[in-house]
Amino acid sequence: MEKLLNDQVALVTGAASGIGLEIARTFAAEGAKVMLLDLNRDAADAASARLQAEGYEAMSLSADVTNEEQIQKSIQQAVETFGKLDILVNNAGLQFVSPIEEFPTAKFEQMIAIMLTAPFIAIKHAFPVMKQQEYGRIINMASINGLIGFAGKAAYNSAKHGVIGLTKVAALEGAADGVTVNAICPGYVDTPLVQNQLADLAKTRQVPLEKVMEEVIYPLVPQKRLLQVQEIADYAAFLASKKAQGITGQAVVIDGGYTAQ
Ligand code: NAD
Repeated sequence: MEKLLNDQVALVTGAASGIGLEIARTFAAEGAKVMLLDLNRDAADAASARLQAEGYEAMSLSADVTNEEQIQKSIQQAVETFGKLDILVNNAGLQFVSPIEEFPTAKFEQMIAIMLTAPFIAIKHAFPVMKQQEYGRIINMASINGLIGFAGKAAYNSAKHGVIGLTKVAALEGAADGVTVNAICPGYVDTPLVQNQLADLAKTRQVPLEKVMEEVIYPLVPQKRLLQVQEIADYAAFLASKKAQGITGQAVVIDGGYTAQ
């Protein structure tokens, strides 16, 4: 049976950890040649080496998604190495929680740069390549924080709301040239980012982690569980495939029922 992403070339940002790492692995398993881009060079190198050892075509790139020159070069490198660029996943991100009065402005600007300006920059430089090919798939990793508000997450929520707006505009601008642009909005996914948050909560409350799950996560998530990275990666693989041609400008929610309440 033909694989979902046979002979496709994908660039995934924030690919050294969590959701991005699983997306890179799943895309490779579905037949794609994958460039794993991350600020963390050692982790990106190790991840791509593991994929190569499994027999997949993978390559790592160390770059900062907020650096336009580095991102432009990374896209060029993908095209030079693999001959084209079919799929771009703007996934790099980070969390920081603080009330607005105490939120350092520099931190706010850094988070907007990583999770909103960076997807803009990557789309800006991927568009000419994809439009010339008359084919492309762009996926922006948003969040349920891009749809509803959360106290303490001024920068994260602003960036994630913004990236959904960017997704719609880019979808309109790519539509005539065969380029689709969508956002994925995960709820709580079991990744280092979320595990660290839960561990901090457990420490602050001086209770075991399981208690934090019972008291904080389960009341919010009707399925009473953290989502698994594979669930997000499987959906991303479908959106990145030729089968998803008709889906564009959408913010797709995968949240175990969180936002249904
Ligand atoms: P993670 O911390 O496990 O991985 C994020 C990766 O991004 C890291 O490898 C990090 O080095 C990289 N990165 C950070 N800043 C970068 C930069 N400037 N340039 C290049 N790389 C950079 O996080 P995760 O939980 O896998 O989250 C991935 C994405 O999914 C983020 O955009 C996050 O907001 C989003 N998301 C996560 C969850 C969740 O529950 N984990 C829920 C909704 C949305």
